[in-house]
Amino acid sequence: MIYVVGSYNTDYIIRVEEFPAMGETIFAKEIIVSHGGKGSNQAVSAARLGSKVRLIAAVGNDERGREALKFWKEEGVDTSGVKIKNTYTGSAYILVNRRGETMIVVNRGANYELNEDDVELDDGILLTQMEIRENVVKKALQRFEGIKILNPAPANISDYSILNYVDILTPNEIEFKELTSADDIEYGLNILLKKVKMAVIVTLGERGALIATKDKRVLISTPKVKAIDTTGAGDVFNAALAHSLEKGEDLESAVEFANIIASYSVTKIGAIGPKWEEVREFVEKE
Ligand code: ATP
Repeated sequence: MIYVVGSYNTDYIIRVEEFPAMGETIFAKEIIVSHGGKGSNQAVSAARLGSKVRLIAAVGNDERGREALKFWKEEGVDTSGVKIKNTYTGSAYILVNRRGETMIVVNRGANYELNEDDVELDDGILLTQMEIRENVVKKALQRFEGIKILNPAPANISDYSILNYVDILTPNEIEFKELTSADDIEYGLNILLKKVKMAVIVTLGERGALIATKDKRVLISTPKVKAIDTTGAGDVFNAALAHSLEKGEDLESAVEFANIIASYSVTKIGAIGPKWEEVREFVEKE
């Protein structure tokens, strides 16, 4: 079983020509409403690959929360760990201008109400991110018996002792820099590897992913594809990594698989990964 402890947001993707200036009111070109939040994206992406996934998250006692529960059930995600809080479901307002630049405001809502006692875990794989309270993430990592993956997104960690409970840390390049304040990658990796137990995997977009363990560095390249929408590439990568590790693959094979699935996902619009039936042929070809 893969346990995902994380966030759910309703994403409001608001397309504009240019961002409004201070005090200015502008019209949107389009609004797209979709299911988001790193916890939900990663849980659904792993379930689509065929994993048994239990999501530990919180939604509000509102229509959007009920829609999220319906969505997870349709996607085959176990929702027995989802709590309904007496507040609003989380939401994210994502302004995208004509150059594809973004400005984002998140109302954490119920995500911020998920507390340590809400997190009940067994064993298998734990996959978690930083869009819920840090103490809840830490508690989940401390309690869990199996392999523990922390996707440090966003990377604003206040207590770095949390990394002592992590087996595999999966920052992207920006998060890696934020976590280590290091320009030199080797120097930064050594800082993190003093804490993280098994490996640091830095995702590098179209260059693939770098696996760093205490004694080795291995760059695993990703298939060359025509990228259409890279939103959520990191979520799909983490989900596929957890899926593969849960099946007992070693780290290098799991990263290779995660690269293939994530590269496929950037050729499609949306932040959630493909179903196994859809991606199988591509995986076999690669
Ligand atoms: P996002 O924030 O958009 O979710 P990210 O910045 O967290 O993504 P990246 O490092 O950009 O994560 O990408 C994660 C993985 O997705 C990469 O390791 C790679 O496997 C795949 N990927 C991303 N962009 C591309 C691309 N242009 N071509 C092929 N694979 C890609």
